[in-house]
Amino acid sequence: MENEGQYQDSKAKYDCLLFDLDDTLYPLSSGLSVEVTKNIQEYMLQKLGIEENKVAELCVSLYKTYGTTMAGLKAIGYNLDFDDFHSFVHGRLPYNLLKPDPVLRSLLVSLPIRKVIFTNADKAHAARALHRLGLEDCFEGIICFETLNTASGVDASDIKDGSEARVPSTSPSTDVFDFEEYMRQPNSDIVLPRTPVVCKPFQDSFEEVFKIADIDPQRTLFFDDSIRNLLTGKQLGLRTVLVGTSRRTTGVDYALESIHNIKEALPELWETNGEAEGVTYSRKVAIVINSLA
Ligand SMILES: [Mg+2]
Repeated sequence: MENEGQYQDSKAKYDCLLFDLDDTLYPLSSGLSVEVTKNIQEYMLQKLGIEENKVAELCVSLYKTYGTTMAGLKAIGYNLDFDDFHSFVHGRLPYNLLKPDPVLRSLLVSLPIRKVIFTNADKAHAARALHRLGLEDCFEGIICFETLNTASGVDASDIKDGSEARVPSTSPSTDVFDFEEYMRQPNSDIVLPRTPVVCKPFQDSFEEVFKIADIDPQRTLFFDDSIRNLLTGKQLGLRTVLVGTSRRTTGVDYALESIHNIKEALPELWETNGEAEGVTYSRKVAIVINSLA
C-alpha cells in the first residue's frame, strides 16, 4: 500500500495543460520556423531599412534581449505596426509545410484535462497553424499576441508603462536606439529602452496568462520548446515539459523528443478521472482572444 498515497497524489496533480504552439505542437523539422526567420529579416531590410549586413545579428540579439525580435524593434524605436509586421512575417508563410496530425489530435482529445495555448504569435497564425494540423477544436482557449497586447501598434505601451511615448504607428522612425553600441559594451551606463510588448519569456506575460485563463501554476504542466520560457514558468510554479529533445536540463521536469511521446512520459495525465473520451471544443470558443482579457 506504499504507493497508494503517491497514486492518489498523481491523480489530482494537474488540472491544466498549457502549450506553446510553434515547434511544440509541430516539429521544428517542418521547416516553418526557418521561413519565419527569413520573413522577419526581410521585414527588417525592406520595411525598416536596416542595413543588410546588420540584419541577421540584430534579429538574434533583439530576440535574446526582448523575447521576440519584434518586441526589440519596437523597444529600440522602430514605429512598426503590429498587424503589418504579422501579416508580412506570418501571412506569407508556406502553411502547406504543416500536415494534419491525427495522432496528436487523438492524444489531445482523449486527455481529460483543460488545455490552453500560450503563444507569442498573432491570432491569425495560431488559427491557420492549428487548422492545418487539424487541432483547432482541441483547446479551450488560445492566448496569443493580441490577447496580451492591445490592437495594432501603439496602445500596448499603456499596458505596461504609461510613461512610454505614444507615437502614431505610421510616423517614420526617427530616433532609433543604437543597440549595436549597447551590445558592444552592455555593462556601460547605457540604459536599455523598455519594450511595450508583453511576451514570453517574461514573468508579466505568464502572470497575465494565469489571470486570463484562471490557471493555478502549481497544478499546471507547461509544454514549450524554449528553455528560457520553461525557466520562467518553473520560477512561477509551473511543472515544465521541454519538447523537441529527450535531454532534460536544469529547470525542466520532463523532456520529450516529440509531443507524440506525451503518453509514454506522462501516463498519469490520462488517469485523472474516468471521463476521458472525446474532449473537443466548438470552434467558437476555441479561439479566445481579447474577450477574456
Ligand atoms: Mg515555440
